Parts: sequence; C-alpha cells; structure tokens
Amino acid sequence: MGELRKDYVMDKFVIYPNLEESKNDNPSLTICPYCPGNENNTPPAIVSLVIKSGILQRLSDSEGNIVKDWSVRVFNSNTPIIALNHSTLYTDKPLYSEPAYGYHQVLVATPNHNDSFSNISVEQWCNVLLVLQDRIRWLYSQKKVTYVSVYINKGNKCGTNIDHSHIDIVTFSEVPPFIESKALSSHRYVNENGNCPSCIAISTELDGPRQILATDHFVAFCPWASIYPYEFVIYPKKHSTTLTKISQKEIFDLAMILRSTLGGMSRVLNNPSYNLIFQLSPEKKNSRQFHWHIEIFPHIYELTGLEKGFGVFVNNILPETAAAKLGGAARKEIAKLVGVE
Ligand SMILES: [Zn+2]
Ligand SMILES: [Zn+2]
Repeated sequence: MGELRKDYVMDKFVIYPNLEESKNDNPSLTICPYCPGNENNTPPAIVSLVIKSGILQRLSDSEGNIVKDWSVRVFNSNTPIIALNHSTLYTDKPLYSEPAYGYHQVLVATPNHNDSFSNISVEQWCNVLLVLQDRIRWLYSQKKVTYVSVYINKGNKCGTNIDHSHIDIVTFSEVPPFIESKALSSHRYVNENGNCPSCIAISTELDGPRQILATDHFVAFCPWASIYPYEFVIYPKKHSTTLTKISQKEIFDLAMILRSTLGGMSRVLNNPSYNLIFQLSPEKKNSRQFHWHIEIFPHIYELTGLEKGFGVFVNNILPETAAAKLGGAARKEIAKLVGVE
C-alpha cells in the first residue's frame, strides 16, 4: 500500500506506490495483459462492454467466467498507484503523510492491440466515452471519493510501458492541486466579472487563427499562451462542468472531434507519445466548478532548468503555426470520417 506525502509548505502532493508489492502482481510484459485471450493476467472485469446484434450490453466477469468478445473492458489496475487496503500511515507536518487511498481502474479502449485513439472508429470512441461516464458516476457514489481523475498516457515517454490503448481512472480523497486552483481561479473570475472565463476564451478562439476544428458542440484550439509545442484543448461550446452531464448526441460529437484531432496530430507529428487529460469539475456537493475540457500534450520537448526552476516556459512553435498544421490534418481526418473527401 502506498503513501501520499505533502510538501513542507507548497500545495503539492506526491504518491509513493508500494512498488515492491505491485511488482509481484506485475504481469510479464512479454505478452500484452490487455489483449483478448490474456484476461487472466488482469483482475476480473468490472465492466465488459459487449455488442450483440447492435445492442450494447454491460457485463462483468464472475468466478471462473471471463466475458469474451468485449469491445471495452474495465478492471482494477494490477499496478495501482493507490489502493483501498492500507495500513494507517498518518504523520504530522512538516513531514505530513497519509495512506494513498482510492480506486485505480483501467479502461481498455479496444480489443485490438495495434489500434490507437487516433485510428479507432468514432463509434468505438463513443463506446469508450459512455463506459467512462458510467465509471465516473459509480466512483463518485463511493465513500472517500472526492475527485475522479481521468487521463491517457500514450507511449513510453509519457508514462506507460503498455502499448495497448487504455485510459487510467484514479480517485482521490481530496481535490488535486491543479484542479483546486483551476476551480478557485474560475470561481473568482465569475464572482468579479459575472462571466465564465472559459466561455469568453471559447468565443474569442472560435473561427480564429488558433482554432483546429469545430463541430456542432465542441471546439479544439491551441491556447493563446500554449506552454508546449502543439498542445491543444477541446472544450464544449456550451458551458458545462463535467463529462457526466453531456447528452448522447454530444458524446457522439465529442467522439468525432477527439478522433479527428488525434488522427490529425498523429499525421503531423508522426505518432507521438502524448498525455490526454480530462479536466473535469469535482462532482461532490458544494465543490467549486469550472468549464470542463480536455488537454492534449504531445511529447516532443524535454523540460529545462527554466521551466522546472522558474515556471517560465519557452515554446519554439507559435500556437497559430501549430493550429494551422493540426487544423489542416484534422480537417482531412473528419472529411474521411464523414465520407466527403
Ligand atoms: Zn494488447
Ligand atoms: Zn463556461
């Protein structure tokens, strides 16, 4: 069981998973534990989405019975960074620590090992997002879950040694620092100006030089002050605080823009490692909210002393240049998907 330590003064925390414990459960990576046929190498499926005669069924593994022919599969991670079982490890400041308590689930996004988020079908992306909505709702109904974080690590430069496309879902018993600070800034801005800062940014960026792609309900653009080369964001055009609040129609639209922009990024940057992060408001009662969105950071740059030491970033690619390249490629992708090439 891991430990969560907090800095002496700064608002940041670090998790030390019990690497020795998890190493024993770590499947041999000579086979892919996420591929169909290798389900025994992971804990039982909490949800396996199976499509039978066009109908989606949510099944789960039971004793000795593994659901086959799944299209999306979710289970508890066998190398969790946090866990439910723990021996108490509370210590006081300045050396504050607490048990790293929570759920770490893995959502395998496709049965095909060589598929990626940039080439799966829009329907498959929809299935992934629908299962994700269910998971987030369920996790928020559990005790001691104050925040559900959702992210994709793709490629070994971005934190995973498993190639098979998957999403990590990790809960925390408090709101993580970046989310807290985003919610606080947004809250303050709304109080002072009466408007959501993201709604203003969206209306500024729509159809502008940093837009990559817009669909009926979503817009993708490279932020005005992009920190990393080719980073981009996807926002719902209409003010909304979290993924679980959007309709089926919006899910389809989100699947379309995700698939097209990731497909475009893959073309422009030749299949880079990347992190894709869902920035969702906390869903617990009375928590501060902000306009939810997705952030995508391709890994083509190592941080230097300036960034690590001073929080000052140097980016050699203007967001307008990045958006022009990503936009051209994303428009080709969407044209292919809707059959107008
Ligand atoms: Zn695989
Ligand atoms: Zn807004």
